[in-house]
Amino acid sequence: MPKNLSLELVATTKRYGETTAVDAINHKFQAGTYSCLLGPSGCGKSSTLRMIAGHEHVSEGDILLGDANITDLPPAGRGTAMMFQNYALFPHISVADNVAFSQKMKGVERSVRLTRAMELLDLVDMTAYADRLPDQLSGGQQQRVALARALITEPSVLLLDEPLSALDPFLRIKMRLELKRLQRELGISFIHVTHSQDEALALADDIIVMNGGQIEQAGSPRDVFNAPRTEFVAKFIGGHNVLQVGGSPVAVRADKLNVARTAGEGDAILSAAVKDVEYLGSTVNLALDAGSAGDLTASLPDAAFFADPIEIGTTVFLGWKREDAHALAA
Ligand code: ADP
Repeated sequence: MPKNLSLELVATTKRYGETTAVDAINHKFQAGTYSCLLGPSGCGKSSTLRMIAGHEHVSEGDILLGDANITDLPPAGRGTAMMFQNYALFPHISVADNVAFSQKMKGVERSVRLTRAMELLDLVDMTAYADRLPDQLSGGQQQRVALARALITEPSVLLLDEPLSALDPFLRIKMRLELKRLQRELGISFIHVTHSQDEALALADDIIVMNGGQIEQAGSPRDVFNAPRTEFVAKFIGGHNVLQVGGSPVAVRADKLNVARTAGEGDAILSAAVKDVEYLGSTVNLALDAGSAGDLTASLPDAAFFADPIEIGTTVFLGWKREDAHALAA
C-alpha cells in the first residue's frame, strides 16, 4: 500500500542560467489532498512539478516527503510518480506491458507484474484493452493507461502535468471527475498543474496560484475565489471586478454587483453604460463601461434579467454590499 504523506517545498528555487523560474517558494501539500498549481504560462508551474518529480535539478532549497529529504533522490526512488501531458506510452508493447514496465525494470517476475498491471487496469476501467497497442486507443483511453502506469509504482504523491489539456471539452469534464474519484479512493496526494481556473476550482482541495515564479495565494477554491488577496489573483481566477475605492484596489465578484435602473436606488454608487449583453444560459453577463472606474462585468441570474431586460446603451447604477468588497494587496 502506498503511504499517505505530506510533501513540503522549503525555499525551493529553480534557475535556468539567468532566469529564475521558481523563486524560493514555500508550501506544504497536506497528505491525501488534491492540489492544483494554477497560473498563466511561464509562471513556473511545470518547473515546480518537475523538481518535485526529480526530473529537474533543484537550484536551491529542499523538498521533503514526510520526514525524508528527497531533494536529490532519483525519480524512481523518491515516492513520487509523474503522469506526463503526452502520456509517453511505449508504442510497440501492449497496454498491460506498458503498465507493468517499471516493475520489469525492478526485476519483478512477469506473471507477478502482469497480475499487478491487471489490477491497475481494473482501477482505471481498462481491463478490456490490456492486449491492445497504445495507438489502438483513444486519447482518453491512453490517458487512463498512463495513469495506471504511474500508479503501479505505489507513489505517495502523483504528479500530473496538464493532464486534461489534450482532451475535448466533454471528455475533459468526465476525466476530471475520474481523477478526483481516483484520488479519493487511493487516499494519496495528487498535485496537478493547470492553467485552467475552472479545472482547479472543480478539482482541488487546495489551489496554489503562481505568478512570476512565486506563490501569490494558496487556499481552498472557495477562499481563493471569494477572497482573492491580490489584483493578479482576482483577475486570473476570473469572475471579479477590480475597482478603485478611496484610492485602493478592491475586488467585487461579478455576481455581487447590484444593478439598478435609477440613481439612489439601494446601494448604488457608480453609473455605467451597458456596452453588451451576453446570454450564458443560467446567467446573463452585462459588459459595463463605468468611466474612470473602468470596464466592469455584472452577472445576473437569467430569471432576474428577463423579468426586466436591460438593453445595450442603457445607463445603469451599480452598488454592492460592504462585505462583498475585498481589499487587495498592492
Ligand atoms: P509554466 O509551467 O508555468 O508554463 P515553466 O516552469 O515551464 O512555466 O517555465 C517557467 C520559466 O522558466 C519560463 O520563463 C520559461 O521560459 C523558463 N524555462 C522553463 N524551462 C526552461 C529550460 N529548460 N531552460 C530555460 N528556461 C526554461
